[in-house]
Amino acid sequence: MKNIYDITLEKLELYFIDNNIKKFKATQVFEWLYKKRVTSFLEMTNLKKEEMELLNNNFTINNLKIISKLEDKDVKKYLFELSDKNKIEAVLMNHDYGNSLCISTQVGCNMGCTFCESGRLKKVRNLEVSEMILQIICIEENLNTRISHIVLMGIGEPFDNYLNVIDFINIVNCNKGLDLGSRHITVSTCGIVPKIKEFIKDGKQVNLAISLHAPNNEIRNKLMAINKTYKIEDLINIIKEYIKVTNRRVTFEYIMLDGINDTIENAVELSRLLRGINSYVNLIPYNETSHIEYRKSKKEKIMAFYDTLKKNNINVTIRKEFGSNLKGACGQLRSLYEEELWSMHI
Ligand code: SF4
Repeated sequence: MKNIYDITLEKLELYFIDNNIKKFKATQVFEWLYKKRVTSFLEMTNLKKEEMELLNNNFTINNLKIISKLEDKDVKKYLFELSDKNKIEAVLMNHDYGNSLCISTQVGCNMGCTFCESGRLKKVRNLEVSEMILQIICIEENLNTRISHIVLMGIGEPFDNYLNVIDFINIVNCNKGLDLGSRHITVSTCGIVPKIKEFIKDGKQVNLAISLHAPNNEIRNKLMAINKTYKIEDLINIIKEYIKVTNRRVTFEYIMLDGINDTIENAVELSRLLRGINSYVNLIPYNETSHIEYRKSKKEKIMAFYDTLKKNNINVTIRKEFGSNLKGACGQLRSLYEEELWSMHI
């Protein structure tokens, strides 16, 4: 049986029409789910008995299970167990402009970025739409608060789970659903060029972030396996097309790795690559892990890199560091939990 949180409003309307139920009933169900947050179809008291029964016999309304939560001043990390016992994580960060939840889109990831803790677990499966939606609902309920921004930047490559991610965006963005504005939703991709093309055609008005992390193919090939399939030039060309069609600014994520991609020459080369593109670069101090040999760039090098981009008229910010105090920075929570479990059983 499908989870009711898998279904967009349009799909539920069609389902009701097919079952001789008035279309507006779908809006009522959405209000029960997303505004009143009921946990059973029986609580949807404005539905007729046969409508409740139809839902009850064909859908579940299951939630996710929080199995671990770590907290620091500005960050909360959640580890969830799915119904098949797989585990995923989500990270909530407090910013000046509100709070932002980074959610997972897959169990594991096949993209093989060499700096990434999450990618150490190969892809087991895509997340269902409901499993993405419920990361938000579960945390909102846990903290009794509304989440203002969503980023699809946790475990997994969103465009490798494209159709579910599009339905997810539809529900989050829908005013009868979670009702978050497009500008409050960011999809991040490592650069699957054909999927970016499809995304342009789909015309979603959400923010797009590109994990770039290198100014040329030589460095990017070492960091990101995807670059062997879609070269940096192809990626930049499709981004130019995206900006031309959507008139939206793109974010380039750039993890600063000591001695790998953080020299002044790298900054000059990056400035040349991005010249004239309506974008900004987000420099990310690396979260070191014991399993991966990369080290975080020194503060002075990050500042010098930043200054060089600025001097070359590239919009740039340095991301505030979140979570490293918790020993569970992005992508580390699941493996941390599993190691703890493992050590408990020896
Ligand atoms: S950085 Fe993202 S795309 Fe790359 S392996 Fe990690 S989760 Fe996958």
